[in-house]
Amino acid sequence: MNAAQPVRGTHDLIGEQQRRHAHVTETARRVTGLYGFDEWATPVFENTSVFARSLGDTSDVVSKEMYTFTDRGGESLTLRPEGTAAICRALVTNGLTQSLPQKVFYAGPMFRYERPQKGRYRQFHQIGAELIGPSEPLADAEVIAMGRDVLGALGIADEVVLELNTLGDTESRTAWRTALVEYFSAHREKLSEDSQVRLEHNPLRILDSKAQADRLLIEDAPLLDQFLNDASRRFWDDLRNGLNAFGVSYTVNPRIVRGLDYYSHTTFEFVTTRLGSQGTVLAGGRYDGLVEEMGGPATPAIGWAGGIERLGMLLEAPPEVVAPVAVIPQGNEAEHRAVQVLTLLRSAGVRAEMAWRGNLKKRMERANKAGASHAVIIGETELAKGTVQLRNLSDGLQQEVRPDDLASLLSHSKKAEQNT
Ligand code: ATP
Ligand code: MG
Repeated sequence: MNAAQPVRGTHDLIGEQQRRHAHVTETARRVTGLYGFDEWATPVFENTSVFARSLGDTSDVVSKEMYTFTDRGGESLTLRPEGTAAICRALVTNGLTQSLPQKVFYAGPMFRYERPQKGRYRQFHQIGAELIGPSEPLADAEVIAMGRDVLGALGIADEVVLELNTLGDTESRTAWRTALVEYFSAHREKLSEDSQVRLEHNPLRILDSKAQADRLLIEDAPLLDQFLNDASRRFWDDLRNGLNAFGVSYTVNPRIVRGLDYYSHTTFEFVTTRLGSQGTVLAGGRYDGLVEEMGGPATPAIGWAGGIERLGMLLEAPPEVVAPVAVIPQGNEAEHRAVQVLTLLRSAGVRAEMAWRGNLKKRMERANKAGASHAVIIGETELAKGTVQLRNLSDGLQQEVRPDDLASLLSHSKKAEQNT
């Protein structure tokens, strides 16, 4: 029989890799908490319409990347390719559209049928934040600052730059779109096949194309700037003032349009050069039309999502595993006491392990292999006296102590070690 294989583009997260993931998620949860965000979890699948409607029929995600299937009841369901549409669906179906603002953090797996490569998978994981309710540009600035702080807390702020753009309001964007259609139509035959289709359905998306054929044309395409109306220009100015107030530095990149349909005004990407062409680690923008798209009232909103795998790869070192304490009984009688000591240590919050068999030598070997910082040895003498031997495995020093004093002695000893 052939050995079982994982599905292409999926990964098991084991040991160090899962620690990187967990560290990214926990850090983002903590930092967004400082901004008053609260975590939501939505199902990993939704009715297909939740994504098809909101992301736009011509977006790459909807047209090529969705995992869509019919269930046994004949419903068309889709494994979520992203989080924002589902959060907006949840806002509406839980009757929260009148309880604004909502500050939402989420984390979890997303599914896209993409060509797997470094930093691009078919099941990948995102952290995300959505601020639903405010329409003020200062809210955009705050959400971007929060993204910057997550990257800072991960220790990778120096690895990324923030690229910022505006898409203006609908009026500005419509005028710009007309100019883009005119420009690209004049060069139609030079466009990639995909972009020729985009030209019909959503010409802005051409600017997001990664096809070599399109890149040259994109260079000379008309920019939104000359089509921005007064209101959009004011928003753009206020956004940048807000970012300055939060101390966020950025560069303006007029080519950032983002892959999904629902953005207006602010768009941004935190980008690194360290991951090749998969360089965007955290990205987002304002999506004022999406809640309405889900059947709720018109509701402004701004958010971002970050790729956990890409962020995890940038981490300097994975978070370390805490070294355990090995409890070592000598002889059957001591084993019973050892189990009590083991339980005592664990309830005091100490990571503690004990082998299920073996003499002192075997057990010491195993403790060293497990990277134990200390051994707690219980022989006949200690058993009789109600004490234990606490041995520091890095310097070999040993002292006889009472079990009740173990936890505090261990925490002192570990702190001292960290300080050297
Ligand atoms: P890209 O341009 O790289 O395809 P995107 O615009 O499709 O990204 P978003 O939908 O904005 O990405 O998702 C936010 C983040 O999620 C990305 O910046 C990236 O870090 C991560 N991400 C997106 N798709 C994948 C994937 N297939 N595998 C791993 N991470 C991904
Ligand atoms: Mg993509």
